[in-house]
Amino acid sequence: MATNRTFTMIKPDAVKNGHIGAILAQINEAGFRIVAMKYTWLSAEKAGEFYAVHKGRPFYDELVTFMSSGPIVAAILEKENAVADFRTLIGATNPDEAAEGTIRAKYATSIGENAVHGSDSDENAAIEGSFHFAGTEIFS
Ligand code: GDP
Repeated sequence: MATNRTFTMIKPDAVKNGHIGAILAQINEAGFRIVAMKYTWLSAEKAGEFYAVHKGRPFYDELVTFMSSGPIVAAILEKENAVADFRTLIGATNPDEAAEGTIRAKYATSIGENAVHGSDSDENAAIEGSFHFAGTEIFS
């Protein structure tokens, strides 16, 4: 069953490059409501745990190092058809392949440093949201 929530992170590259405000504005303009949000810095251990599904892939160590290299913005977003609509809004993993106007096309620098995360399923949206937020930090 499709749910109406997804989970996102504005990644360290986009934070460092000063794009937090522009990305949040684009998210709001696309009709998503922020129901939880925090500015935080993942340890390498936490980043490794978050991306455990990619363990063993050639880019895993690079991904963990990158995601723990600086602060991020983590958020839970609400909208009808949230997971699929947010994946459309952010664009393809590789910014060279991301559709024009998508967040990754505008703000990502490479396939690794690609500005934002977006959950790929309702199940993962729930798991990832709970990874970052306690129930008392979510306001719908
Ligand atoms: P996503 O769902 O679009 O974020 O893509 P994936 O789930 O396939 O990969 C998770 C994250 O790993 C991506 O967002 C990138 O930050 C990183 N990543 C994926 N593929 C590569 C790659 O080939 N090289 C590097 N350096 N990072 C990658």
